[in-house]
Amino acid sequence: MNSTLFTGPVFQMARDQLTVIADHLGIAEDQRDWLLYPKRAVVVTCPVRMEDNRTQVFIGYRVQHHLALGPAKGGTRFAPNVDISEIAALAIWMSWKCALADLPFGGGKGGVAVDPRALKPKELENLSRRYMQEMIPFVGPRTDVMAPDMGTNEQVMAWFMDTYSMYQGVTVPEIVTGKPVGSGGTLGRREATGRGVAYLAGRVMKELSIDLNNATAVIQGFGNVGSYAALGLHQFGLKVIAVSDHTGALYDATGLDIPALMRHAGEHGSIAGFSSQLQFDPAQILTLPCDVLVPAAMERVIDAHVADNLKCRVLAEGANGPTTPDADLVLDKRRDEVFLIPDILCNSGGVVVSYFEWVQDLQQLFWEEEEVTRREYHILDRAFDQMVLRSRADKVSHRTAAMAIGVEKVRAAKTTRGLFP
Ligand code: NAD
Repeated sequence: MNSTLFTGPVFQMARDQLTVIADHLGIAEDQRDWLLYPKRAVVVTCPVRMEDNRTQVFIGYRVQHHLALGPAKGGTRFAPNVDISEIAALAIWMSWKCALADLPFGGGKGGVAVDPRALKPKELENLSRRYMQEMIPFVGPRTDVMAPDMGTNEQVMAWFMDTYSMYQGVTVPEIVTGKPVGSGGTLGRREATGRGVAYLAGRVMKELSIDLNNATAVIQGFGNVGSYAALGLHQFGLKVIAVSDHTGALYDATGLDIPALMRHAGEHGSIAGFSSQLQFDPAQILTLPCDVLVPAAMERVIDAHVADNLKCRVLAEGANGPTTPDADLVLDKRRDEVFLIPDILCNSGGVVVSYFEWVQDLQQLFWEEEEVTRREYHILDRAFDQMVLRSRADKVSHRTAAMAIGVEKVRAAKTTRGLFP
C-alpha cells in the first residue's frame, strides 16, 4: 500500500528500516503494511488565546501505532516542523523500543507544530491544556499514555494531567508520565533517558577495555537527554570535550564543566553565553575524534557522509532516528571501528522509567530512586544482551538485531490475538 498521508523523509526512514527487518525475518509482503501503518492517527486544531488577545491556531497530532500489547506509550513533541508523518515514524520506533524492553505497551507519539520558545508562559500553558482537552476522546490510562519529548517538559505534563483530571472529576496521574515528582511523577524519570545512555556507553567502553578516566565524549543537543547523558559520562570520569545545542557549540580539550553548564542551561534555556572562549563550529561536532559520541537532538543528522567521517569508538544514539538508512550501510562496514548502540535500545531508559511511573501511579505505591535506577539498568542490560547475542547469531548489525527482536514481538502479539473480526 502507498499512503498519501504518511510520506516525508522520517516516515520513509521508518519504512525502509522495517523493510530491512522484514527481509531479514522473511515476513510476507501482505503482513508488512499491517506492521507498518498506525492503528490510529488523530489531527486536532488547537485555537489559543495569545497574550495580545489574538487567537492563534496550532495543529496537533497523536498517533497510536498498535495496541496489541497494552496502551500506546510515547512522548509529545512541540517543534515547528512536526507533521503527521514524522509523528507516525516516531510512534513506530516506540513500538519496537517498548517490545525490545518487554514493556506492556504499543508505540505512540504526539506533537504540536509550534516553536515553544516563541510562546509566553501563559500561551504555552493554554496550548498544552487545549491540546490535551482535544485528545481526551482518544487517550486514557489504558489506551494511550503520553510523556515528554523535544520541546515539552515536566510542567507541560503537569498541565496535561491536570486538564485530563478536571474532565474526569478525579485526579488521574497515570494519564501521563514524566510529571513532576510532587504531582505523581517518579524519582529518576527526569534523569532516566540520559542516565541510561551513559550507563550503556559505560558498559560498552568497559567491554572494549577503554579506560573511562582517559576517555572523551561529545554530545549533540543539551536538553533533557543530552545534559543528563553528559552528566552521567562526566560522573564516570570521562572528559566531555564538546557540547552543542540550537544556539551553537562549545569545545574544551580539557573537559567542559558539565554541572556548571547544566546550571547555566537551566537558568538561560540554552548553552549560549556560557563562555566566549570555548565557542566552536557546531557543524563539526559529530566528526570530532572522541571515544563516545551521543547525538541527542534530532533525526537524520548522521547521513552516509557523516558516517564515513565519524571518529568515535562508541556511537550512543540518545536521539530518536539520528542515523539514516544510508549511513547504516556505511556503519555496517565500519562495525569493528564504531560500536553502535541503536536508539531503540540506547534511549529506552526514558520509556522504561515511564513504565515504572505508570505502575506506581496505578498502585499508588512509590519507590525509592535507587530501586528505580536499579530496575532501569536491569532492563537495559537484558535488552543489550539479547541484542548482542542476536547480532552475533544472525551476523547482522546491532540496529537490525534490536529492531528484529522488537518487530518479532509485536508481530507475535498481533498474530496470536488474530484479526478482528
Ligand atoms: P529537549 O527539547 O529537552 O532538548 C533538545 C535539545 O536539542 C536542545 O538542547 C536543543 O537546543 C537541541 N537542538 C535543537 N536543534 C539543534 C541543532 N540543530 N543542533 C544541535 N542541537 C539542537 O529534547 P529531549 O527530550 O532531550 O529529546 C532529544 C532527543 O531525544 C529527541 O530525538 C527525542 O525524541 C529523544 N528522546 C527523548 C526522550 C526523553 O525522555 N526526553 C526519550 C527518548 C528519546
